[in-house]
Amino acid sequence: MIYLDNAATTKPCDEAKAAVMKGLEVFGNPSSLHRAGLDAELLVSDAREIIADALGVTPDEVYFTSGATESNNTAIFGAYKAHGKRKKRVVISSVEHPAVKNPAQELEDMGCEVIRISPDENGEINARDIFAAVNEDTFLVSCMLVNNENGYILPVEKAFSMIKKKYPQVITHCDCVQGFMKIPVKAKKLNADMISLSGHKIYAPKGIGALYVKKGIHIPPFMLGGGQEKGFRSGTESVPLICGFGAAVKKLAPNVSANFEKAADIQAYLIEKCNENGDVFVNSRKGGSPYVTSIAVNGLKSEVLLHYLEKREIYVSSGSACSKGKKSSVLKEFRYPEQSLDSTIRISCSIDTTKADIDALMEGIKSAQNDLCKVR
Ligand code: PLP
Repeated sequence: MIYLDNAATTKPCDEAKAAVMKGLEVFGNPSSLHRAGLDAELLVSDAREIIADALGVTPDEVYFTSGATESNNTAIFGAYKAHGKRKKRVVISSVEHPAVKNPAQELEDMGCEVIRISPDENGEINARDIFAAVNEDTFLVSCMLVNNENGYILPVEKAFSMIKKKYPQVITHCDCVQGFMKIPVKAKKLNADMISLSGHKIYAPKGIGALYVKKGIHIPPFMLGGGQEKGFRSGTESVPLICGFGAAVKKLAPNVSANFEKAADIQAYLIEKCNENGDVFVNSRKGGSPYVTSIAVNGLKSEVLLHYLEKREIYVSSGSACSKGKKSSVLKEFRYPEQSLDSTIRISCSIDTTKADIDALMEGIKSAQNDLCKVR
């Protein structure tokens, strides 16, 4: 199998799998006061420390969730509950994942004013445009770090720093799902008050994520119940998944730069091969995440190509996993030509992707062109 859909999910690494097993064996409830509970609690705090360390924050600023969808919802609705009575404006980018876009839409339906910042005519989101949309009535700015459909890196650091200088009370939230452990992500450098993370995009299991909430930022809990996670996120902690998440971060954190270089090399190779094939167009811009490359194959519909490649056990995505074959509104926002929207596929690499994988992909595309394109 050649798996090139790592922005959708990744294969759990051996370290994460072993840690999950350990978390299953140490089966106590972390809230229990006896030894079995304490042992489980220790595993949870180890993982919390690893993740906090990787973000450059303290462990008591990291809350485990069921994934980034929950983290984003907690951040956005939490900010609304805390400040939405007095202030009305929320600023997001127009290319957010649905886990930000849809909560923001819900806030709009509830009477908030949501400003969506679109890419300019060159397909760039400008920090100044984000900053300019913020006013005294703004309580939240949420902007993703790396776009999941094309790897575009948004100017979060610059935008948040401008915003914090003029409006220190505005809450800044960043969905770092496609950036964490792939490009350097430090909470302070980003000027982010809240950061959403997901385990399964970084070789940990599905169903685990985290939300960083900066000390001093008070937002009410999203989940009410037994008061776990210091009352911020009730529900018995999934010790095995938390262990898996911690183990994956422990493995990746020291190697972010080295892995980035490797991914950049693979991406450069992929782009070179695309350019050799006159009918393949690279959508992704230079300077984005090397892990995600959006390409369009002239004359082939995304899903047709996806299923053709699938027969060769090559797995890619059409746009993003969440768009399930629908024309991507995000790619439209990036001003990709209408005809390329229909024929765009996303190649997303892992730390294990090789040039041989790219060769197999390009052979598969060539063969699809020969078999399926009528006019050649
Ligand atoms: N945000 C981004 C940018 C994503 O790519 C994804 C997953 O596709 C999510 C949020 C949702 O993450 P999860 O699957 O952990 O809920």
